[in-house]
Amino acid sequence: MAEQAYPPELSEERLISLVTQIKVVFSNNHTKLGLTTETEHSVLSQPVGVSCFPTKFPRSQFQQALDIQKIYNKLYCAVAEDDDFIYNAIKDLLPGDALANALWGIYKAAKKAESVQDISVGIFRSDYMLHVSDDSSDSLDSISNTTLKQVEFNSFSCAGATHANKVVDMHRYLTRRGVYNVEENRVDLSSLPINKNVDSLVSCLALAHSTYGPPRAKLAKETAVLFLVQPTNFNIADERPIEYGLWNRDRPVPAYRLGFGPDVLQYTRLTDSRELLFQPPWLESASPIEISVVYLRAGYETYEYDQTGLDARLRLENSTAIKCPSILGHITTFKKVQQALTKPGALERFLTDCEAAAIRETFVPVFPLDESAEGLQARELAGNPETADDYILKPSLEGGGHNVYGEDIPGFLASIPESKWSSYILMERIQPPILSNLLMSSVGIDGGEVVSELGVLGTCLWRRGPEGQCEMLHNSVGGWTFKTKHADIDEMSVVKGYGCFDTPYLVGSAE
Ligand code: ADP
Ligand code: MG
Repeated sequence: MAEQAYPPELSEERLISLVTQIKVVFSNNHTKLGLTTETEHSVLSQPVGVSCFPTKFPRSQFQQALDIQKIYNKLYCAVAEDDDFIYNAIKDLLPGDALANALWGIYKAAKKAESVQDISVGIFRSDYMLHVSDDSSDSLDSISNTTLKQVEFNSFSCAGATHANKVVDMHRYLTRRGVYNVEENRVDLSSLPINKNVDSLVSCLALAHSTYGPPRAKLAKETAVLFLVQPTNFNIADERPIEYGLWNRDRPVPAYRLGFGPDVLQYTRLTDSRELLFQPPWLESASPIEISVVYLRAGYETYEYDQTGLDARLRLENSTAIKCPSILGHITTFKKVQQALTKPGALERFLTDCEAAAIRETFVPVFPLDESAEGLQARELAGNPETADDYILKPSLEGGGHNVYGEDIPGFLASIPESKWSSYILMERIQPPILSNLLMSSVGIDGGEVVSELGVLGTCLWRRGPEGQCEMLHNSVGGWTFKTKHADIDEMSVVKGYGCFDTPYLVGSAE
């Protein structure tokens, strides 16, 4: 791979023009995080962070990540139907972890009521970083000698698809306008892959909707997709375009939103045959609407599961609506499940040897922190300041910002009771190549060393057979997100302004 100075040196005038153009595009395409001020006729909102230049990424690893997504989809659909595997993976969490307890309790209640549905939807995101190979003689600024390594797998409420789509469209637009070209150094449009995230997520939910079929309840005349949202979430504009896309299809798919918790109890009910009926007073329709698909963008944080939250989630789970995701599908997002899948032979429970090998290639070592022989070894690594630096300690909490990094691990472990250690996993730190870019977000506009993360979206629909086997009704790569942060920041939080949406500038051959 020929290394050229990148990003190109732009004159101050061109740089100011680039930043201005980004602001103008953003103010026209709803790439927003949250509302900051609202008056009678206008809304001020904060844009998501963005990289001013696309960041280089090797074409072959990009292709590899897309190629293995269908295997990852198949794997996680199969895991989501295997309650034994899931129970064994998370049983250490159950005594002390309120979220794991709530979700597992709801699963058991739905199972007892024999209401677990056989068709489920998955909208997944598998996140990767490049890892500089140990035997690399290159310096860390090179991406040529790297391998693709998985950071985590998300099976619940995967965010960022819309922002990624819009930011890629923006970088491609700026590229068409020649904004990144300096003399003979030109960024070719064909090096910035097209992104269709919103279309593919919409298609997947529409397919689930049509698979559900016509209303089954006598009272209902139509069916609709229901988005369950966190009423106060700052990331307001990420799932809206999915909802608009459903309504805007040639055959519109009605899509409504409801806050998780009290609103579910107030505006929905179950029929005797467990259809989920939705009837808020603000809808003109006199007949209730039967919910075909429940798409959850809420219910992933512990505080949401007071008694009302528990009752709401159980009602959804007990219903005949197709869930995105089911409660077990939700639990597969836990880091303890990720760790359980790295155990020898675990992947082969669900995949062919060849598929398992392709997935395992993306793993870095992940250890339990329990009292098994492996766990005790990991406790030593984590407790020692000299070795801890190469690791990240992760709880199974979702929503970001809960990890403990490197040298902070020994002190953190010492500060919590030893009985809690086994709810964490210890993951070897991926060493990404360090590149340069100019990042623009709520924390400012700042140039310097950066690292990137690729998330590949998977969309799937499956049916559980009588023996618990998965019949894949739809299995597809839904698209991807690409985020970049300053190299000295550990977390990739978009809301805090650290993680900036970006576009991979693909270099090298596809192999
Ligand atoms: P969550 O998104 O649930 O908070 P992640 O596992 O995605 O947890 O970790 C948050 C961020 O920490 C990632 O986006 C990545 O930037 C960084 N990170 C996580 N695991 C690793 C790892 N093994 N090596 C290097 N960086 C990591
Ligand atoms: Mg993450």
